[in-house]
Amino acid sequence: MSKSFQDPAIIKELKVKIHRLAGKFTDRKIRICHVCGTHEYTISHWGIRSLLPPNVEVIAGPGCPVCICPNEDIEQSIWLAKNGYTLATYGDMSRVPSNQGSILTARAEGADVRVVYSFLDVLKLANNNPQNKIVFFAIGFETTAPTVAIELVNNRIPSNLFILSAHRLVPPAMSVLLEQDDVPLDGLIAPGHVSAITGYGIYEPISKKNNIPIVVAGFEPADVMLSILAILQQLARFQSKTENLYSRVVTREGNKKALAAMTDAYQVVDAKWRGIGVIPSSGFEIAKKFSQSNIRLKEEVPVSSGDDIPKGCRCAEIMLGKIYPEKCSLFNKRCTPENPIGPCMVGNEGTCAIHAKYGGHLDLADD
Ligand code: SF4
Repeated sequence: MSKSFQDPAIIKELKVKIHRLAGKFTDRKIRICHVCGTHEYTISHWGIRSLLPPNVEVIAGPGCPVCICPNEDIEQSIWLAKNGYTLATYGDMSRVPSNQGSILTARAEGADVRVVYSFLDVLKLANNNPQNKIVFFAIGFETTAPTVAIELVNNRIPSNLFILSAHRLVPPAMSVLLEQDDVPLDGLIAPGHVSAITGYGIYEPISKKNNIPIVVAGFEPADVMLSILAILQQLARFQSKTENLYSRVVTREGNKKALAAMTDAYQVVDAKWRGIGVIPSSGFEIAKKFSQSNIRLKEEVPVSSGDDIPKGCRCAEIMLGKIYPEKCSLFNKRCTPENPIGPCMVGNEGTCAIHAKYGGHLDLADD
C-alpha cells in the first residue's frame, strides 16, 4: 500500500476540507455509519474521530461477523463438537460466549475443536483424516463466503466434511440500519473488501430508496477521511448516490467468478443476526444440490431458545449504532478482551474490543 494513504500532510489537508464543509451544517449533526470492523479499527487506531468537527460523527454498525453470529449457531456448533464431529472454525469465533459457553470451553471439556486460518486448512484436515467426520463452522460476510462456494461448485468437498453455514450478507443489514427511526443517518461508508466481491452497484438501490449517500472506502486513514469528505460533499449538493472511492480494488460489477460461485452454491435465506433479530434475505444456506454437505440436513441439531445477549451486555445497541462501547457499565471493567462477556469484546473486528485496545470515542460527556 502506498504510504500516501497514511501521509500526515494528506490527512491534515483532508481534515481542513472536512472542517470547512462541516461549517455549512452548523445547525445539525451529521451522522455517518460504517458497517465494517476493519473500518472501526482504522478509525480508532488512527484517532480519526479526534480529527472531526463536533457536528460530524462516525458510528459503527453491525460490521463484525463474529459479533453478529447468533447464539443458536454457536450452540449448534458446540453440540456437534460434543457429538462425534471434529469442529473446525476461526480463532475469534471459538472465543465468542454463548449460553452453552464458548467453543473453546467445549474443547477444554474434551470436544475435538480445530482452529483454522482458512477453508483450505479445513479441506486439508478432512482429506488427511478420512476416518473423522469434520464440520466447518462457516461464518463471515461476502468476503469469506466465496471460499466455501468455489469448493462446493467444483465438487471438491470430501464426503467426511460438512458445512454449518452462518454466512451473512451486508446490504440487507445496511437497509435495517436505515429503517431505524431513533438513529437517523446522513451517510453510510460501505466496506471495501465486501464491495470487492459484490461490486458497488449493489448499493445503488439502497442509496436511491433511502435518499442517502453511500461511499465505498478502503482501509487506510486517508481512505476513511476521503469517504467522510465525499459524504459531506454530497450532502452539501443535496445528492444521495453511491460513490466508489476504492477504485483500486472495487468495480461496479464486483468479482464475477465469486458471485457466480455463490449464486450456485448457496440459497439466500432469512437469517438471524445476534442482537438484531431476523433480517430478510440476509443469510447464505447451502443450496439444495449440495445438501450432502449441509450438516443441518444430516443431523437434527437442537436449537436454543435462550437469550442472544448476556445480561448487562449492550452489544445489541452498539451493533445498531445507538451507543458507544464506553457507555456499557461493564466495558473494560468486568468485560475485557481477555475476559469477554459479550460478542463485541471478542475479536479484532468487535467494536468493544477495538475501543478497549485503542480508545474510540474521546468525549462521552454529551452523547
Ligand atoms: Fe457487551 Fe462487553 Fe461490549 Fe458491554 S463492553 S457491550 S458487555 S461486549
